[in-house]
Amino acid sequence: MILRDCYPGTSSYRIERIGDMNKKAVVVFSGGQDSTTCLFWALKEFDEVIAVTFNYNQKHSLEIDCAKDIAKELGVEHHILDMELLNQLAPNALTRDDIKIEKGEDGELPSTFVEGRNMLFLTFAGVLAKVKGAKHIVTGVCETDFSGYPDCRDVFIKSLNVTLNLAMDYDFVVHTPLMWLDKAQTWEMADKFGKLDYVREKTLTCYNGIIGDGCKECPSCILRNNGLNKYLEDKKEK
Ligand SMILES: [Zn+2]
Repeated sequence: MILRDCYPGTSSYRIERIGDMNKKAVVVFSGGQDSTTCLFWALKEFDEVIAVTFNYNQKHSLEIDCAKDIAKELGVEHHILDMELLNQLAPNALTRDDIKIEKGEDGELPSTFVEGRNMLFLTFAGVLAKVKGAKHIVTGVCETDFSGYPDCRDVFIKSLNVTLNLAMDYDFVVHTPLMWLDKAQTWEMADKFGKLDYVREKTLTCYNGIIGDGCKECPSCILRNNGLNKYLEDKKEK
């Protein structure tokens, strides 16, 4: 089994091509900044790319529309899978109007946390990948801006990679190109692909459902916009 990702302190996002592994990837794709950047990364790294979006009855169905529009524009095969059961299992602020979006205090998880979400998404992405004959799975999870989500951690991704391979008797490689990047570096990556404006204008990350630069007030917008401002300032100084 071979696991590759980006390591701290490296400016290269490129993975080495892996022997005789096939060049087909499934990208877990929400239509947000991170997964759109990962989609561009995958389009550079692999010959064939498939995007998969999970519909778990998000309050902002615009998120699904964003994903659809981007995949269509980039000519990427796109699957939208119904995951409404996630809301039955774990009610959360992303799906329910009666749960406020709150940052977790003192080690508590924020109310936007959905128990087991990444594990389920990656597992279903794995099933789709195998059906489609793809060996690579790409996800935008990141430990740097860690909000305490346990299934965003590198150790979990590596563990799930082993589990998927054993479960399906298949040599998947799970790629996490953003794992060690902060938000400014994620913008830098989009810029390197010549896609900074594209990601800035067309993606939806805002918890209040506003596309592009968003509401500028929710935790997600603050993280995204602080990263963007930092990147643009650093770029100016260079
Ligand atoms: Zn917002």
